[in-house]
Amino acid sequence: MSSPGGRPHLPVECAPRLRPGGPFGLLPRPLTIRDVRRENSRTATFVLDGELPEAKPGQFVMVWLPGHEEAPFSLAYHCPVTLTIAAVGPLTRAIHGLGPGEALWLRGPYGRPFGVEPETERPLLVGGGYGVAPLAFLAEHLLAAGRRPAAFVGGRTAEDIIGVARLEDLGVPVVVTTEDGSRGEAGLVTQPVGRFLARGEGDVLYGVGPHGMLYALARLARAHGVPAQLSWEAYMGCAVGLCGMCEHDGALLCVEGPVRHVILE
Ligand SMILES: Cc1cc2nc3c(=O)[nH]c(=O)nc-3n(C[C@H](O)[C@H](O)[C@H](O)COP(=O)(O)OP(=O)(O)OC[C@H]3O[C@@H](n4cnc5c(N)ncnc54)[C@H](O)[C@@H]3O)c2cc1C
Repeated sequence: MSSPGGRPHLPVECAPRLRPGGPFGLLPRPLTIRDVRRENSRTATFVLDGELPEAKPGQFVMVWLPGHEEAPFSLAYHCPVTLTIAAVGPLTRAIHGLGPGEALWLRGPYGRPFGVEPETERPLLVGGGYGVAPLAFLAEHLLAAGRRPAAFVGGRTAEDIIGVARLEDLGVPVVVTTEDGSRGEAGLVTQPVGRFLARGEGDVLYGVGPHGMLYALARLARAHGVPAQLSWEAYMGCAVGLCGMCEHDGALLCVEGPVRHVILE
């Protein structure tokens, strides 16, 4: 079929979609920074002038600045879009140099989110380092679904502990651990999680943080026979399952993660 000008005329259902990658599309869209809240010397929370009402906790956006590589960041909140970013490399250090009125370029949201685990009442939410970022957003969803979450926030030192107030504001009890004992209980965050499970005070685990912590949570879930949903990290290129950069344990984390369910044997 041809149009009068001789160009092929696509039937409506074949017409190219201009924005196939979600509400913000495959091409990054600039969003103005509304507010910057410093969490600690390395980490800051950026509140942006934009909303992603359909986004779910555990999903991420790709963030870009001209002249830099893109990188994924979990949504700390969706309305307004809020990101908690640790300055670790070129992109994140450049973002930390920005202030209100300046722009970040975003595309997404992407990835499999956390879900409400059926037939559970007492979810244990575990965050290490900036992994705490999406936990309050997740807690809000679980509370709305009638669950009674408790949270566990771990870090190396007191300086590394972020996000506790946001969880407590929701009425979620928070257990804090630091490896040097400078705040809360001394040791690893998985220790109090293990105690809660042993006492039957938790029936599902949710985790975001370093891979060592996630592997430990997977072992705890299997040992206690409770389901677990864990958010894994990898370098990401395209975020839509094409480039293969984010392969982890045989899964492409951008589309088959970042949240993966632990298989209980
Ligand atoms: C799904 C997902 C969600 C994320 N959410 C957040 C978030 O909410 N807040 C946040 O601050 N960061 C988050 N990250 C991590 C962030 O995308 C990376 O730290 C990013 O690479 C930083 O870019 P950069 O150019 O500043 O530093 P880069 O030069 O890319 O990295 C600097 C250094 O950090 C380390 N590093 C970075 N990424 C990884 C990785 N995936 N695995 C192991 N080491 C790594 C490396 O040692 C590297 O040398 C997330 C990553 C994923 C996959």
